[in-house]
Amino acid sequence: MIMPLRPGLPEQTVWPGSRPSLCGLLKWMASDTYHWLRDGYGPHTPPPGEETFTDVHIRHLRQAMGSRVKVVQFNKEQESFNGADWELWIHNRSHGLGFRIQAKKESKEGQYGFRYWLDERKAFQCDLLIHDAQAVGCIPVYLLYNHEAWAIRKDAARLLCGHTADDRSHYGCSLLSAHQVQAQLFSQALGVRGRISHVQLREISAPWNQVLCDLKGKAGARDPRGTGTLQAIQRRAEAVERAGWATLSSVDRGEFASPSHACGGNPEVRVGTWLGDQATEERPEPVLRALPDRVLRLLEADPLRPPEQPIPTRAVVLYDVSDAEETVNHLVGCVRY
Ligand SMILES: [Zn+2]
Repeated sequence: MIMPLRPGLPEQTVWPGSRPSLCGLLKWMASDTYHWLRDGYGPHTPPPGEETFTDVHIRHLRQAMGSRVKVVQFNKEQESFNGADWELWIHNRSHGLGFRIQAKKESKEGQYGFRYWLDERKAFQCDLLIHDAQAVGCIPVYLLYNHEAWAIRKDAARLLCGHTADDRSHYGCSLLSAHQVQAQLFSQALGVRGRISHVQLREISAPWNQVLCDLKGKAGARDPRGTGTLQAIQRRAEAVERAGWATLSSVDRGEFASPSHACGGNPEVRVGTWLGDQATEERPEPVLRALPDRVLRLLEADPLRPPEQPIPTRAVVLYDVSDAEETVNHLVGCVRY
């Protein structure tokens, strides 16, 4: 059983018996990560590695969400050739949104391992994260594990849910479009002046609970199919991705297909194309994306004998938002709801 980390902070309590909202659970996990890293860079050194956090997060999602979450795990050896650690789908059994997720832990000095190069595929992990995500219909994101909070920009905050932790520890886990990192790698490879620092990248990332929030704005609004929830999550996720594309588009890329190519790597690894809804923010609701057959098969599959994946990750986590209204415990985590 998981206990509150610091008894004095009511925000850190977690699901005693009933299922929390996804926002509440992600917020709690972010808070746990934030304090665990601070402890690890402080009195209880060393902090855990990225793999430990990933395993613990997937464990918590499975443990807390009951039948709403399905986790399919794969052989860890396959992961080393991929740009992603795991895949997350938020769905209502017919439509939904997938993320390819690569975790990066903040160092004590505020740096992240973004320049990781995979010799096997002659490319930056970042380029592969994007390349592979596009091949399987997912949004490529970095999941940053942070030990410092920051002042989120007002225009970014406007797009996010308002569920935060009083001690700002919800900044412990944040999502960053992989295109933001790709833009930075391009700038480095081509020696462009005025490069983006890691701290700046962290500051344009968004707390994951605030992007993936499954709580609705109006109390009592019924949404048995989870359509409104999915649309809200898609709107926020696409805003994150769109901002990444905008940054990438603003960088001079020369004649190169990708930062890997610019550094003598595989020219077949390209920056790709925008998969998202082309609509601008003026359109009130995004058009939901149909789940790929591959994901529909995973929903039906025996988790011990899952169908082979085209580009496997360590795990695929499938979170069902349908019929969420009746059973969500609004009091856990998102106390300001
Ligand atoms: Zn929320």
